[in-house]
Amino acid sequence: MNFYIGIDFGTSGARLAILDQKGDIHQEVESRFQGTSSPNQWPIIWQTALFDLIVQIPVELRRQTSAIAIDGTSGTTLLCDQQGKPITSPLLYNDGRGVEMIEKIKAIAPANHLVLSATSSLAKLLWWQHHHNELNIPSQPIYFLHQADWLGFLLHGKLGISDYHNTLKLGYDITHLCYPSWLTNAINHESNPLKLQLPKVITPGTPISPITSEIAEQLDLPKQCVVCAGTTDSIAAFLASGATSPGEAVTSLGSTVVLKLLSHTPVNDARYGVYSHRLGNLWLTGGASNTGGAVLRAFFSDRELKTLSQQINPNINSPLDYYPLLKKGDRFPINDLELPPRLEPRPDNSVEFLHGLLESIARIEATGYQRLQELGATPLTHVYTAGGGAKNTVWTTIRERYLKVPMVQPRHTAATYGVARLAMQSLEKSQV
Ligand code: ADP
Repeated sequence: MNFYIGIDFGTSGARLAILDQKGDIHQEVESRFQGTSSPNQWPIIWQTALFDLIVQIPVELRRQTSAIAIDGTSGTTLLCDQQGKPITSPLLYNDGRGVEMIEKIKAIAPANHLVLSATSSLAKLLWWQHHHNELNIPSQPIYFLHQADWLGFLLHGKLGISDYHNTLKLGYDITHLCYPSWLTNAINHESNPLKLQLPKVITPGTPISPITSEIAEQLDLPKQCVVCAGTTDSIAAFLASGATSPGEAVTSLGSTVVLKLLSHTPVNDARYGVYSHRLGNLWLTGGASNTGGAVLRAFFSDRELKTLSQQINPNINSPLDYYPLLKKGDRFPINDLELPPRLEPRPDNSVEFLHGLLESIARIEATGYQRLQELGATPLTHVYTAGGGAKNTVWTTIRERYLKVPMVQPRHTAATYGVARLAMQSLEKSQV
């Protein structure tokens, strides 16, 4: 029997799933990150979690593992020496100190490029370059990596390899599959004191190398177990859903609402924060709104959401037209940083209020998909749902009324499952 391991590094912990070749999950394990007050502890915390997850798998499954793939939080980056040892504290996905590099990015990158964000990988790289002196970063060759790249390296030992999902926000050109010259010129410029090595970029899931013999021995894995190129956490969650055809979409109804629509064509519009990832020969287009479950949670407990929702007739329109936000401002589908939360009039009856909220969020979701299509994405055909709101079947019926396409139950929602499938499919392809 062949088994495949998918490992997901999230914001508060890491999870693992091991699948057989039919795609059935045999074991799922979790490891919470122990709190740290010192950012330079992150790599060791991640490494500990990675090994801890693998050794939690029963030995008889571990010894039949054919491939492993890892996803990480998009935009979490680190610098390593030539042995792969981190030489600074990592900059996490939401670290915004790169804001001071925005003017520099404007000067080198094409207008409206998605690297123009304080949290982009490029902003982080340039921030390190700018502050190398005070951080005591040596002038020897240094590797710039993403979290998933470095964790994969710990298993396969080949330094400086990434995938085109993790490197999108570094500025990698996913249409032509190369680093654009504006980026390499800026990084390799002779005036730069840092000798930065950008990772070689390959297709997510591509088998990189078998694990090292030390890792095989230490973790009781077979020597021929291959480590594949990884991806980002949100793409892994999309892959888990089972959506594979253009027009199929996954809405994540978590604290916020995130839309991802598979398309024949890429769409990009910086005004709305809309961009596209490459997924084989297709494009994963998407946008994220600040509306969502966090607003529901401000008014109702999860228990109330469940019981009150059951009293809503989802086939009847609510007359309430809200724009539910916790604070002013949204980017997608309406780009207005001053957009005020609209939660009035508020009826005395909680069921009516919740009906208005659920219906208004559904309207915003439908407008979001319309926006992606207006920008050129393939028309919507089916919607899968993930996140805390997915279990609300009354909401699903309301949403179907607005989206006007069938709602589909996702095969799975966990990123671990998606990234394990990525490893499995790539290995199968490479063996044909
Ligand atoms: P995140 O990972 O973004 O924090 P989750 O996917 O865990 O979010 O979902 C949590 C959200 O789901 C909460 O904001 C909560 O309001 C919402 N939620 C929980 N139960 C329900 C329900 N029955 N109906 C609608 N929303 C729900």
